Amino acid sequence: FKFITWVYKKNLMEFSIISEMFEKMEKTTKRIELTDILVELLKKTPKKIIPIVVYLLQGIIRPNFEGVELGIAEKLAIRAISKSVGLSIKKIEDDYKKGGDLGITASNMLKLKTQTTFTEQKITVERVYETLFKIAKLEGKGSQDLKMKYISSLLNDATPLEAKFVLKILLGTLRLGVAENTVMDALAIAFTGKKENKMQIENAYNVSSDLGKVSLIVATDGIDEIKKFKISMFSPIRPMLADRIQSEEDAIKKMPELFAAEYKLDGERVQIHKLANKIILFSRRLENITEYYPDIVENVEKSLNVDEGVFEAEIVPINENSGEFLPFQELMHRRRKYKLEKAVSEYPITVNFFDVLYFDKKDCLNLKYSERRKILEKLVNEDNFSKLVPMLLVKNENEIEDFLENSINSGCEGLMLKILDAPYRAGARGSNWLKLKREYRNELGDSLDLIVIGGYFGRGRRTGLYGTLLLGTYNPENDNFHSVCKVGTGFTDESLDQLYQILSNKVTLKKNSRIVSEMEADVWFEPELVLEIVASEITLSPIHNTGLNLIRKGSGFALRFPKFTGKIRYEKAVEDASTDEEVLTLYKRQSKFSQMKWTFMLEKYDIN
Ligand code: AMP
Repeated sequence: FKFITWVYKKNLMEFSIISEMFEKMEKTTKRIELTDILVELLKKTPKKIIPIVVYLLQGIIRPNFEGVELGIAEKLAIRAISKSVGLSIKKIEDDYKKGGDLGITASNMLKLKTQTTFTEQKITVERVYETLFKIAKLEGKGSQDLKMKYISSLLNDATPLEAKFVLKILLGTLRLGVAENTVMDALAIAFTGKKENKMQIENAYNVSSDLGKVSLIVATDGIDEIKKFKISMFSPIRPMLADRIQSEEDAIKKMPELFAAEYKLDGERVQIHKLANKIILFSRRLENITEYYPDIVENVEKSLNVDEGVFEAEIVPINENSGEFLPFQELMHRRRKYKLEKAVSEYPITVNFFDVLYFDKKDCLNLKYSERRKILEKLVNEDNFSKLVPMLLVKNENEIEDFLENSINSGCEGLMLKILDAPYRAGARGSNWLKLKREYRNELGDSLDLIVIGGYFGRGRRTGLYGTLLLGTYNPENDNFHSVCKVGTGFTDESLDQLYQILSNKVTLKKNSRIVSEMEADVWFEPELVLEIVASEITLSPIHNTGLNLIRKGSGFALRFPKFTGKIRYEKAVEDASTDEEVLTLYKRQSKFSQMKWTFMLEKYDIN
């Protein structure tokens, strides 16, 4: 009773409410049902903590761009469960190996415990959230033990169902199947009564990338406030994306009479926020990457003619002597923290500006491309480090072709074609921007972006490293990963070493339940890393799961002679990796052009 009055006074929310709703959500995949449950949950939630609930729904505790990560290792979680329930680590590991889900294991173990303990204080959403937050902020010596204490103290007071979800959030394995879109539908229905208002909510989300912040405004101030939502510095804008086209002819069909062609540089996209001398850099996935590029922070302050602004650019490594663009993978060196200083001096870069989204309190998103480009040209002082992406106005196939040749000759991937009158559509893929890459032009196939799911220890020079990796595609329908090939070529000593460092932190005790593969592996990984792969052919395969049964019953697709191109696609989330559907398309295309298939990629990466 005491607890209930305390909850009431403080307007707190019991965590059991959330857990029950999460449990219901896990049981359905229907979007309408999910939306209904969400609406009910949002209506029950005290307004103040709406953002917390919105973050937890996505399995995060702050918007992604803030980089607040829980990153709890399974081993630590197992120790915490053991401490809390007084059972041996072995017993917990055994249960986990049987079921494959540590959340469920925690729940099972707590069920055993409730028979022996009697005191139980209810936990609240606020308490869970605060504890998660504290855990995320802990670092350095002794932090592991403290984290474990925090977790086990939560588990001491949790019911089995609550424990299941606390664990899933901690481990990053919560999969409620609620996409951001569904959350926005539910926000619109719960707080404005009209699903159509989602559009305004989405606009606000697209310019802030913070659904928690947006949800609080909708819940407390209503849709009119959301309509006034503005870009704010250091809150990244979701990037505009381009459609693919295959040829110059396609371009002419899809574009107006006159349009802009820009070099499509092969580097890393960056969104630069500058306010006086404070500069923050966001990647295409909107992660804060400022620490990897101290040289950008230093140089860009001088080259941007503006006090306050948001810009987009492509970071490209260069050969300082010749000024030539170098391959994208040279940027990998920047990801090694302890060697950063060396990387900055040995692997110089240029920053190539292609858009301006905001400056001196003016939102530029609704300006036409042609106007934004004019502003950009005024604001960027070009020097050896900062440049404008080369642009030309074009109107026919010949002009495109010429410019494309120039672009390829200077080491670029192709062209971006942009409609002069089009605004910047944050967070949207569409035909206002078209990408024309040389590979598509000749219909010779494409590279694939595949997810590392498993590994095999190497021999000889590769002893102690992962000599071969098991890779998979993403399957958006079921939100899981299908194995498609093993790759053991294309690695340099350096890249093997680097991959080992990255992957050894992602090893799991048991195959992640989202990985669908009949293959055995020496180790399984948390599916988080995307690699670019080329191959000679796509074949039907009885052992891989990508596209299973699509062409022939009992067969999936496999890549023949796959090879790592050297590109770790840091900027891609696993959900952006190649899908089963894309492999199917490539498979069909290759049968049509069987002689020509893949030739360009094979030459480019010297396979044969
Ligand atoms: P893709 O990754 O193949 O979908 O191509 C889109 C990417 O091309 C963007 O995310 C940018 O990183 C990159 N890019 C290179 N040059 C440009 C440009 N001139 N305009 C827009 N994006 C560009």
